Amino acid sequence: MKAAIVRSFDAPLDVNEMEKPTPGPHQALVKLVASGVCHTDLHAAEGDWPVKPAPPFVPGHEGVGVVEAVGPDVDDLKVGDMVGNAWMWSACGKCEFCRQGWETLCVDEQLGGYTVNGSFGEYMLVDARYAPRIPEGVDPIEAAPILCAGVTVYKGLKETEVKPGQWVVISGIGGLGHVAVQYAVAMGMRVVAVDIADDKLELAKKHGAEVVVNAKDGDPVPAVVEATQGGAHGILVTAVHPQAFDQAIGMSRKLGTIVFVGLPPAKTEVSIFDIVLNRITIRGSIVGTRQDMVEALNFFARGLIKPTLTTRTLDEINDIFDEMHRGAIDGRIVIDYSK
Ligand code: NAD
Ligand code: ZN
Ligand code: ZN
Repeated sequence: MKAAIVRSFDAPLDVNEMEKPTPGPHQALVKLVASGVCHTDLHAAEGDWPVKPAPPFVPGHEGVGVVEAVGPDVDDLKVGDMVGNAWMWSACGKCEFCRQGWETLCVDEQLGGYTVNGSFGEYMLVDARYAPRIPEGVDPIEAAPILCAGVTVYKGLKETEVKPGQWVVISGIGGLGHVAVQYAVAMGMRVVAVDIADDKLELAKKHGAEVVVNAKDGDPVPAVVEATQGGAHGILVTAVHPQAFDQAIGMSRKLGTIVFVGLPPAKTEVSIFDIVLNRITIRGSIVGTRQDMVEALNFFARGLIKPTLTTRTLDEINDIFDEMHRGAIDGRIVIDYSK
């Protein structure tokens, strides 16, 4: 089978033949139809983060495909079913965090396209107990971005605790951010979009942002505070630049909650005084549980979320990563395996 393989963190991906995997216990072999390309795949391929994957590996965690074979002990997936892979490829089900319903924090988690091979190939393995089920009747190409971008921002928005009618800032209108605008609107929130590119802000408006602020020409904080009459109730930071994280604090209303989702390899400084005196909460949020995934896919299947996307081929993966580095992608790029 053909796959895009990371052989070293400082070389382009090698699009080449590799052995088709065989499903083990609880696993299914899936023939890919589509896979979104997440900025996390770029961080993975470049070894950006403190905990690195081990080359050679195949990235990709927004894969949608059809079950071609199942291994032993699979009782609720059959050949022909449409499923996906996800960043939370599997969890142990036994640890303290799994037991509390926080399987995304499992101490023995496998990560799709990071610790196990992912969806940048013609076939992939999934764990049948954790693989997202794709709702019937949806377009598999459009479903792909929901599997990471969608579920991550849906969960992140819940974590902001913003109520219907209140203001949320979506900072960074890329693959994640442009679907975040749509989920926020669907959840009844009022949206301020912040990015450093006017075309991204246009996209945010198209998807329902009431206010847009360009952070390229100066500090976006005063404009956000003015538009929201005192700061936003919640801020979801999906940007891949540390400055956006620094600025998020100033955008918060008293009592506000700031949720960090973007993962630039960097540190941010916060004013202890501001956090304490304004009773601000800052928290991280990582993808979503299987139940968050069901809910995120349900918003999508009901037609409330429509990712803006461009389809490409697997052979173009290194060009796609170049474009991602330059911030030149409109919404999401999805690899179409039928092309
Ligand atoms: P992307 O490249 O599609 O989008 C990034 C966006 O950030 C772009 O629109 C860019 O213009 C914008 N941006 C850059 N600098 C900015 C600034 N200073 N202020 C405002 N906006 C700015 O990336 P993506 O696929 O949406 O992923 C975003 C980040 O989220 C990545 O770091 C990725 O690894 C991370 N991520 C986290 C989770 C999680 O569970 N926490 C899940 C998926 C992705
Ligand atoms: Zn666990
Ligand atoms: Zn992702």
